[in-house]
Amino acid sequence: MSALPARREAPAAPAGAGFDVAAVRAQFPILSTTVHGRPLVYLDSAASAQKPRAVIDALARFYERDYANIHRGVYELSQRASALHDVARRKVQRFLGAADWREIVFVRNATEAVNLVAQSFLAPRLGPGDEILVTEMEHHANIVPWQLVAARTGAKVVAAPIDDTGELDLEALAERIGPRTRMLGVVWVSNVLGTVNPVEEIVALARRRGVPVLIDAAQAVQHLAVDVRALDADFLVFSGHKVYGPSGVGVLWGRLEHLSAMPPWQGGGDMIERVAFEGTSFAEPPFRFEAGTPDIAGIHALGVALDWLEGLGLEAVAAHEAALLARAEDALARIPGLRLLGAPKRRASLLSFTLEGVHAHDLGTLLDLEGIAVRTGHHCAMPLHARLGVSASARASFAAYTSVEEIDALARALRRIAESWR
Ligand code: PLP
Repeated sequence: MSALPARREAPAAPAGAGFDVAAVRAQFPILSTTVHGRPLVYLDSAASAQKPRAVIDALARFYERDYANIHRGVYELSQRASALHDVARRKVQRFLGAADWREIVFVRNATEAVNLVAQSFLAPRLGPGDEILVTEMEHHANIVPWQLVAARTGAKVVAAPIDDTGELDLEALAERIGPRTRMLGVVWVSNVLGTVNPVEEIVALARRRGVPVLIDAAQAVQHLAVDVRALDADFLVFSGHKVYGPSGVGVLWGRLEHLSAMPPWQGGGDMIERVAFEGTSFAEPPFRFEAGTPDIAGIHALGVALDWLEGLGLEAVAAHEAALLARAEDALARIPGLRLLGAPKRRASLLSFTLEGVHAHDLGTLLDLEGIAVRTGHHCAMPLHARLGVSASARASFAAYTSVEEIDALARALRRIAESWR
C-alpha cells in the first residue's frame, strides 16, 4: 500500500463569505443545462449530488489511460490500476480519519454497507428476544437490513422516539438500551428533517452499555468533517454518489478488530487466501468483504471527489450551505399553507415540507415545469412520515453548488403555487 496522500487544505473562509459559488457552479456541466426550456435548478442533492468536471474527467481519463482489472495482472497496466485503487482507499482513510487502511471496505453504497454489517457482524450474535435499536428518523437502509436478520434469528427491531421538533429524545433512547440490545443503528443527519444528531454523545451512551454502534453517515460526510477515531463508533457507512462521487461506490468503515473477526458475507474471487474443494480460507480485511471485480474506475473517481471537496474546504462549504438553509427556512416559513417538517436545533442543508391542498407529487411536477428538481414522496423514510402524520412531503436539499438565486426561485415558485392552488 502506498503512503497516505496528504490532505488538501483549503484556506479557511469566514462563514458565508468568500465562497465563490459561481466558480463552483462553473465546474458542474449539468448545471448549465435546461429542463422544460428553463435553467435547471437542482435541489435534490440529498438524493444524489451532481458531479464536478474533475470527477467526470477522472472517470474518462481512467478508462482512456489506466484501466485494467486490479490485483490480478503482473503487467504494467494492471499494476497501475491497482496502485490507483490503493491510493483511493488511502484517500477515504484520510477523509474519515481512520487509523488503518484495512478498515476501509469498498461496497456499492451505504445500503450495502449496512447489509454487510447486519449479516456478517450482527447475525451470528443474535438470538430470539434480542433487540436491534434504531431511531424513528432512520432511512429504510438503516431499518430493513436489520429486520432481515431479525426475522432469521427471532430478534426484533425497536425504535427510539423523536420529539415534535424532529430531535431525538436522548433520555428515551438511553432507556431503550437494555440487556437484550445487541446493536444501535443511528443516522447522523436525517434525510427528511435535516436534524444533525449528537452522534458523539449517542456513541458514548451506547458504549457505556457495551452496545456496538453503526452510524449512517450518508447525509453527513458531504456537510460535516468526520473523524472516526474521535467518534469512537464501531461502524460508519456512506455512499460515494452523495459526496460528489460516482454512483455504484460506497464505503463501510469498521474497527479492524471487528472486521478481522467477521466472516465473509459474499464469496468469490479476490476475497480468498486459498481455495480447494476440501475447504477455502479467506483473505484479511478489507479484501475478505470485497468479492468479485469492484467498480474500479468509480472507486478511483471517488478518491478524486473527496480531494475535490477537501480542496473546496468542508468548513467553507458548510458555511455556504448554512446561509442557504437560513434563507430557505425564512422564505418558506412565510408561504401560506406551507408546513416545514421539524424544527431541530441543528439542521444540515435540507428542508422537507408539505403544502396545504397540494399533494407532494403534484408539487414536484409543478416545480419541475419551472425547471426546479425537488424530491417528493416518503424519501425512503415511511416510519418517520407516519410519526410526523403525513404520507408524503417535498424536499429541497442544497450542496456546494447551490446558489441564493436558486433558493429564491424555489420560494417564488412555491408562493405562486400556494396562491393559485388555494
Ligand atoms: N441513509 C440515508 C440517511 C440516506 O439518505 C440514504 C439515501 O438517500 C441512504 C442511507 C441510502 O443510500 P444509498 O441509496 O446510496 O445506499
